[in-house]
Amino acid sequence: MECDVESEGMHYEGNCIRPPSEAYSILLQVTVGCSHNKCTFCPTYKEKRFRIKDNDTILSDILFASKYMKRQDRVFLMDGDALIIPQKRLMWILDRIKEHLPWVRRVGAYANTKSVKMKSQEELIDLRKNGLGILYLGVESGDDEVRKKVRKGSSALACIEMGRKIKEAGIKLSVTVLLGIAGREHSMAHARATGELLSAMDPEYVGALTVMVVPGTDLYEEYRQGDFQLPDERGLLMELREMIVHTHLTRGLFFSNHASNYLPVKARLPRGKQDALDLIDAALKGEVGLKPEWLRAL
Ligand code: SF4
Repeated sequence: MECDVESEGMHYEGNCIRPPSEAYSILLQVTVGCSHNKCTFCPTYKEKRFRIKDNDTILSDILFASKYMKRQDRVFLMDGDALIIPQKRLMWILDRIKEHLPWVRRVGAYANTKSVKMKSQEELIDLRKNGLGILYLGVESGDDEVRKKVRKGSSALACIEMGRKIKEAGIKLSVTVLLGIAGREHSMAHARATGELLSAMDPEYVGALTVMVVPGTDLYEEYRQGDFQLPDERGLLMELREMIVHTHLTRGLFFSNHASNYLPVKARLPRGKQDALDLIDAALKGEVGLKPEWLRAL
């Protein structure tokens, strides 16, 4: 390949996101956009048409990282669901990471139900052996009515099966669920079903985020027309509480930066469940202030 790695730098295209826990990782953009791109609440890749980047560009970025990112020992493969990349190419990318970034200890990527389904169990194991250490799965809700409404593109059962498949391959699983996504009336049913899904899937990490109603999305149109009402602050807290009550993890970290950090919750389950519920109850009674000490209290 003929290219001036140094002058070209990293070839990032458009709006790029990564999970908070990958803040210090080498961000390697191997796909552009999301192959699904239909969820009604998601504004992230609306402007991007999905494609896998060409090998020369990916290799150029890896070579750039090999010169200038020697202190970062994790790689996160952006954009949307890098797992959708055909197995041979994905193995090639992981091989190049091993070859040129030998200090990297873990590679992570976003996945969705479809991209996990497209991989066989053996292929996932091969990816893990080649460095893929964690996958981030957007679960959003365990309630099929909600999943259908927001166009997640799969059932709760399929989502559970794909989560288990990731774990059985020895790859760590981090999932996100969305508070508020079911609107006001369906809030508690969504919380219960999501807790049940999490219990059945048993991931290592759960991040509960509060849905943002962003202009330009279909959800925003529903909101504008009065067909979607976001629960208020109290409603979101009750939803979070109900979700935690129904979440039974063997050993997992449940965290929530709820409602613009009004009540950060970080609970190691199962041990920390009661503390998390007590904290939420205290917030519901107005007994705790909006202080960062809350996080330490857990
Ligand atoms: S699968 Fe994820 S990235 Fe793609 S549209 Fe849905 S929420 Fe957005």
